[in-house]
Amino acid sequence: MGKVTGFKEYQRETEPYRDPAERLLDFKEIYTEHKDDHLQIQGARCMDCGVPFCQSEDGCPVYNLIPEWNDLVYKGRWKDALERLHKTNNFPEFTGRVCPAPCEGSCVLGYNEPAVTIKNIECAIADRGFDEGWVVANPPATRSGKKVAIVGSGPAGLAAAAQLNLAGHEVTVYERDDRIGGLLMYGIPNMKLEKDVVDRRVKLLEEEGVKFAVNADVGGNGENAVAVETLMADNDALLLATGATTPRDLNIDGREGAGIHFAMEFLLKNTKSLLDSGLEDGNYISAKDKNVIVIGGGDTGTDCIGTSLRHGCKSLVNFEIMPRPPVAREEDNPWPLWPKIYRVDYGHEEAASRDGEDPRVYSISGKEFVRGDNGELLGINTVEVDKNFKEIPGTIQFWEADLILLSMGFLGPEHYVSEKLSLELDQRSNYKAEYGEFQTSHAKVFAAGDCRRGQSLVVRAIDEGRLVAEQIDAFLSQA
Ligand SMILES: Cc1cc2nc3c(=O)[nH]c(=O)nc-3n(C[C@H](O)[C@H](O)[C@H](O)COP(=O)(O)OP(=O)(O)OC[C@H]3O[C@@H](n4cnc5c(N)ncnc54)[C@H](O)[C@@H]3O)c2cc1C
Ligand code: SF4
Repeated sequence: MGKVTGFKEYQRETEPYRDPAERLLDFKEIYTEHKDDHLQIQGARCMDCGVPFCQSEDGCPVYNLIPEWNDLVYKGRWKDALERLHKTNNFPEFTGRVCPAPCEGSCVLGYNEPAVTIKNIECAIADRGFDEGWVVANPPATRSGKKVAIVGSGPAGLAAAAQLNLAGHEVTVYERDDRIGGLLMYGIPNMKLEKDVVDRRVKLLEEEGVKFAVNADVGGNGENAVAVETLMADNDALLLATGATTPRDLNIDGREGAGIHFAMEFLLKNTKSLLDSGLEDGNYISAKDKNVIVIGGGDTGTDCIGTSLRHGCKSLVNFEIMPRPPVAREEDNPWPLWPKIYRVDYGHEEAASRDGEDPRVYSISGKEFVRGDNGELLGINTVEVDKNFKEIPGTIQFWEADLILLSMGFLGPEHYVSEKLSLELDQRSNYKAEYGEFQTSHAKVFAAGDCRRGQSLVVRAIDEGRLVAEQIDAFLSQA
């Protein structure tokens, strides 16, 4: 274990983010450099529990060998720690940056002391591996002669591609966007995950033998269309990893017209323009000098806040229909469950630093978008709601806005691929396939990630990608 008395001697200290005033001036990552001595002390806090809840079902979805690499980091054995980390997680450089770290919510130390800083340690191990040149392509020694097509290049598709390629199968990943990575590329913004970190991993996968086709819209009708029938005929198995890309809308009066956008349109265009031209081409929705309202919270809402602030918005408000969470766990939310508590994410911190207050307004719901005589957006009327979302009479309020971003979650995958394959859907309109089996109603077609389970987390997508690869591998060996 780390240091026998480490958890008594040392306090939890997370790696600081860059100063908000400084980081708001650019789209670079918010993180500061890792410091070995600091991380070794944090690793020393791990108690190497007999039952390590951090890597249990409630903790890490990929069952990372957390106590092992905490100990290895404490002892300065970074390369061994990397080897243990890669055993369970193909992309620790992504999760080390963006995972909300359910492992820390389940850490046994967290029962009555602040948890071990597992996420920081994971990120540092992964980054050190790349800096030292320890992460290299590892192509398979032999090939099976079987071919697999993967539709969608998010973390589920990429993890499945990595594992299936390692098993010797010939894998091609089809992506309708112009860059590989799914939401790692075009959802999560640069300040949380710089895109050369994604490209670096994609390049390694290419060196290992995975083929990528961008601007390849499988089952689509446009100029980039790739016929799903051709993929079915040319491959031994097909994996759908198309994500949960249908956004939830707010269908109230005034919805039609300029000024209201889905969060993903805002975020995607911003990252594309940033990568294409450093935001010089103007091909993005600018929040500069605008009164911005973000409707909905979560990671997506926070990313809209962080992006709007970097554009130089005039004002910023974030509506949450839910009540403000408690500051500490409530009785019905005990350890080791994920703590449903009030958190200040990077975007909230930045807004508070610039404007002097947290931008979130709780227990509030949109009633109607308000437009002027020429259809221009003037703002939104809202109403306060109780914990059952019942409107509270007499609480209608007008909020001025010239840009409103809808960040209210996602309703499952689009269906143009599944319709062509006549796939069954589940009750929530996801592609129907059991967790652990991942086979759809078509024997040769598998589904994994957000298109199967609904919008979730990068780490869960990696988990599903790894597990579906096992199932496809077994299917191919029977064929
Ligand atoms: C703005 C935002 C921020 C987020 N932040 C975090 C975070 O900080 N931490 C975290 O853990 N999770 C976060 N998430 C959730 C996380 O990104 C997703 O759960 C994860 O990316 C899902 O992975 P996936 O591989 O299933 O799908 P996706 O990443 O959605 O990838 C699916 C890919 O399939 C492609 N595709 C779809 N249909 C076709 C087709 N017909 N042909 C070809 N390609 C197709 C899409 O273009 C897309 O690139 C965030 C989500 C959003 C929207
Ligand atoms: S639960 Fe916490 S203290 Fe226990 S092994 Fe995991 S990280 Fe270490």
